[in-house]
Amino acid sequence: MKYDFLIVGAGLYGAVFAEQATKRGKKALVIDKRPTIAGNLYTEKIEGINVHKYGAHIFHTNNEKVWHYITKFATFNRYTNSPIANYKGEIYSLPFNMYTFYKLWNTITPEEAKKKIESQKTILKEPKNLEEQSIKLVGKDIYEKLIKGYTEKQWGRSCSELPAFIIKRLPVRFTYDNNYFDSKYQGIPIGGYTKMVEKMLEGVEVRLNTDYLKNKKDYKNIAKTTIYTGPIDAYFDQELGILEYRTVRFENEILDIDNFQGNAVVNYTDKETPYTRIIEHKWFEFGKDESGKDLPKTVISKEYSFEWKNGDEPYYPVNDKKNNELYERYKKLAEKEKNTFFGGRLGEYKYYDMDSVIEKALTDAEKIIR
Ligand code: UDP
Repeated sequence: MKYDFLIVGAGLYGAVFAEQATKRGKKALVIDKRPTIAGNLYTEKIEGINVHKYGAHIFHTNNEKVWHYITKFATFNRYTNSPIANYKGEIYSLPFNMYTFYKLWNTITPEEAKKKIESQKTILKEPKNLEEQSIKLVGKDIYEKLIKGYTEKQWGRSCSELPAFIIKRLPVRFTYDNNYFDSKYQGIPIGGYTKMVEKMLEGVEVRLNTDYLKNKKDYKNIAKTTIYTGPIDAYFDQELGILEYRTVRFENEILDIDNFQGNAVVNYTDKETPYTRIIEHKWFEFGKDESGKDLPKTVISKEYSFEWKNGDEPYYPVNDKKNNELYERYKKLAEKEKNTFFGGRLGEYKYYDMDSVIEKALTDAEKIIR
C-alpha cells in the first residue's frame, strides 16, 4: 500500500493527525472535497483583512500541552474576545458579568447582583433543559433579553427542548470582566488560520477537490489506515437515519468605512433580527490600536443559522437526546469498520472547541500510530 494513513478532511483534526503521523515517519495522504485546506478554520484575505470564511474562530485553552503544541505552528496575537449583545438597540456586555448586571439593574456590588439573580431564580431543582439551566444561572431578565432570542435563532428549537450544557459554555462572573473565555491562553494566529494549518501540513501530500464518499472505492487499497473526519452518518449513507446539524450562511459585505461596529463580535439577542451576530473581522487581528486604522475599509459578516439539509455544510451538531442516541448507534457501526477511525466535530458528532479537537487528535494519534 502506498500510504500508511489516508486522512479524509483537511480540517484541524486531520491536520494534527497528519502532522503527528509525518513526524513519526509515516506516509500520510490528506484529501478534502473543498478546494481549500483548514476546514472551517479557513481564512481568506480580503482588503488586507483575514476573513473567517466559515465563521469566527477564537483560539482559547487552559491546556498547557495543547498550547505548547499549537504555538509551534503560529504566533498568536493578544486578542481577547469580549463580544457585546445588542438587544433592541440596547448594548450589554458579555459574558454575563458585573458590567451586564449594572446595565440591567444598576447594581454596583457583587452582593447586590447576586441578590437580584437570587430573586429571579424560579428554578431550583436540577435543570432539565437550556431554559431551566439559564434561569437557574442568571435569572429571568438575562434569560429573556440575552439568551432566549439568540439561542432560539441559533438552534431553531425552543430553549426548553435544548440540552442544558450549551449554556454552560458561557461564564457567569461577579467581577467587572468582559473576557468571554475563562482560559489561560487566548488569541488569533498572526497571518490567519490558513497559514497555521499550511504549516502543520508541511511535507504532507494533500489532494483538494477530492470527495471521498463519492470515490470510496478508489481509496480502498491506498492506505493501511483511514482517518475519517466527515459526518459519521454520511459515511454510512445515513442508513440508520439522519443526524441533525445546524448550518450557517454568511452575508459578507465590504464597507467603505474603517470601523463599522467598534468590536469584532456583536450578538443580536432579540428574536426579530434575522441574523444571530455580525462579525467585523479586522478587530480579530488588529486590536483597536493604530495598525487597524490604516485599513480604509472593513469586512463584516452577518450570520444566519438554518437547519441543515443534505448538500449544506454541517456546522453544529444538535446534541440533544434523540441525536445523541442515534450517534451512539453509528458509533457502534464505526467501531466495526476495519482499520478506520473517526475524529473531529463531525466524525464524533460533538460540539468541540478547537483546543479539545487538538487534544483528542493528539491522544488518538498516540494510540493509533505505531
Ligand atoms: N448564547 C446566548 N446569548 C449570547 C451568546 C450565546 O444565549 O449572546 C448561548 C447560545 O445558546 C449559544 C451558546 O450560548 O448557542 C454558546 O455560545 P458560544 O458563543 O459558545 O457559541 P459559538 O461561538 O460556538 O457559536
